[in-house]
Amino acid sequence: MRAITPPQLNFTDVLNTCIESISCEDLSRELTAINPQFNNAVQNFIAKVATADLFQIQPFTGDNDDIVAGNITKKELKGLYTSHMVPLTKPARTYYEQLKMLAPLSICPFCGFGHVSTLDHYLPKAKFPLLSILPSNLVPSCADCNKGKSAGIATTKSEQCLHPYFDQNHFISEQWLYAEVLESSPATIRYYVQAPENWNADDQARVTQHFIDFDLARRFGIQAGTELSSLKGELEFDFQSNQVDGVKLALQKKAFVAASQHLNSWKTALYQTLLNSDWYCSGGFR
Ligand SMILES: [Zn+2]
Repeated sequence: MRAITPPQLNFTDVLNTCIESISCEDLSRELTAINPQFNNAVQNFIAKVATADLFQIQPFTGDNDDIVAGNITKKELKGLYTSHMVPLTKPARTYYEQLKMLAPLSICPFCGFGHVSTLDHYLPKAKFPLLSILPSNLVPSCADCNKGKSAGIATTKSEQCLHPYFDQNHFISEQWLYAEVLESSPATIRYYVQAPENWNADDQARVTQHFIDFDLARRFGIQAGTELSSLKGELEFDFQSNQVDGVKLALQKKAFVAASQHLNSWKTALYQTLLNSDWYCSGGFR
């Protein structure tokens, strides 16, 4: 996971821009009329996210045509996003683009390697329709992470995956992602999570949940497989120059560079475990 600077966009600006682009006057009026409910939902989100308690927000369990607030249905609230923020021709698309650009180098913060192509609702709009266009609930994401996570919602603190805007500090600065080398031919890599023991139980569970939600064991494994195949030629050169020491020095450098950029990246875990494997360094890389 990579941290992202939280958006500075004002919710009311985004809402008003979406409402102004609605041609049906009745719908615009009805949406404006539920301003208090919008504000309550936003204030509740702000209060809960500060303590990582978003799971406490009650989901809406009704169908698309059921009323959420005033005379406004779930379908109409979801439509604020899909019909008035996402389409290229809508004025609120500018906010959509601004949010996407929050991810440095367009790299997905959830997996740390995918290309950002969409926005992910941290709390899904189907269950939290009043938060469908709240900037803090919209996170730049790659297509795989966006699709992977949409299924369920957290009902306890420990079931919450990491939120790139709000879960920073120790989730970023302390290592919880590791890998091991399987001595197969060719070598394969297995990723796993091991949170620091001094973390509280919820935080330990949350990094595991994040790993599961985004199918990272499988997806990191694919990245590692490609990397191993390109490392082969490079390490052969290092081996011929200085045997095992040459290979270790090359891997040490890669592990150092990767860790200084992102401690919990698939690359850091990969190079660390390769470096620690005498089997790999003495010829397993072939
Ligand atoms: Zn991703």
